[in-house]
Amino acid sequence: MRLYNTATRKLDELPPPPGPIRMYVCGPTVYQRIHIGNARPFVLSMWLRRWLARSGYDVTLVENITDINDKIYAAAPGASAELAEQASGWYVEDTSDLGLGRPDHEPKATQTVPEILAMIEELIENGHAYAAGGDVYFRVASFPDYGRLSGRHGDDDAMRNPSEEDEPSELKEDPRDFALWKGHKEDEDTWWESPWGRGRPGWHIECSAMAEAFLGPVFEIHGGGIDLVFPHHENEIAQSRALGHPFAQLWMHNGMLRLAGEKMSKSLGNIVSLREALDEWGRETLLVYFLGGHWRKPIDYSDEVLEQAAAQAESFRNVFRQESSPGGDWDELAAALDDDFNTPDALAILHRWRDHELLERGLEVFGLESLARSEEAPNELAELARQRAEARERRDFDEADRLRREIDSAGWEVRDVESEPGFQLVPKR
Ligand SMILES: [Zn+2]
Repeated sequence: MRLYNTATRKLDELPPPPGPIRMYVCGPTVYQRIHIGNARPFVLSMWLRRWLARSGYDVTLVENITDINDKIYAAAPGASAELAEQASGWYVEDTSDLGLGRPDHEPKATQTVPEILAMIEELIENGHAYAAGGDVYFRVASFPDYGRLSGRHGDDDAMRNPSEEDEPSELKEDPRDFALWKGHKEDEDTWWESPWGRGRPGWHIECSAMAEAFLGPVFEIHGGGIDLVFPHHENEIAQSRALGHPFAQLWMHNGMLRLAGEKMSKSLGNIVSLREALDEWGRETLLVYFLGGHWRKPIDYSDEVLEQAAAQAESFRNVFRQESSPGGDWDELAAALDDDFNTPDALAILHRWRDHELLERGLEVFGLESLARSEEAPNELAELARQRAEARERRDFDEADRLRREIDSAGWEVRDVESEPGFQLVPKR
């Protein structure tokens, strides 16, 4: 199996099964309900874990929850801990409703502070970090490979760290340096004791520490949105490799989700939460929608695209309402997924299959086996459908028509079929 690696800028082969394949994916910063774009790395990693496990790999997936971050302090001054706790609950609830299960480990930054402190102390001892005014900064000049992942070089403005976090530059030796530890500020309601005084960790060191705590100093895959390449992932690499840890080997960055052609982001105010999307479209339509876009490319979110996905989900249900007909080759699906996890190709292949057993097995890779189980109509509607079939038998078409309308007004469509009992009830959508 091969996957595109941001670090090498080419498709890289995974080690042969059983691996192991250890994966770390950057999860959300919890201060509101996650938006539908944040669901993309979750969905991708859960699918990839299933596919790798099915291919004989021993897979471990770690997806963190960032519950210490500037954004959380800013969103709830004086009550950030409560907000982070509540929003973590929303995140687990909403992503669980996708029906894909949970990652193997979901560490929180608040539960990893001892590991974070140990890592910062070691970086200081080795000359890769320095304390200044209650903060601790990573010394970028001490790590010559800095900028390799993102392809940024020299000391131009693009290397300045960081753009979104508010860090006083007068304490830094170099504008590229970034905070590992931040001294406590008046309006922050959480803090931890450290050798440098009260404070809390920076965002980047949280992920280095959480990844290594669960996967060790070297692991196979690191994932996250393409917007995390710089500075977040560049900084994770610097922190871990400065200590001699090989860290992640293959970097998978998923494309962004666009609303009306623009990246979905809080600052642009064009946010659709995963909760809203689930309530409006349901999990099956959302999963088919994600399948339709290659993970590396941006995808548009619009009513039109979602309606197409809903129609595609319905066409799968329809296959199971007809007779199974043999044909189709599992290896074709496997080849598409083994080649950079090409889900749009996989989706097109699944649409060609009419063999119920094979199609259900294919849909199951993506948590969509529910499409094979057509919904059971309520008993009273089944009774009406039976009466309608009898009315047709005795050629009482007025009565048959009346019963059809009654079933229709209850939200179901009755279809005549060859097989027993001669009709099928299909929910109208
Ligand atoms: Zn991260």
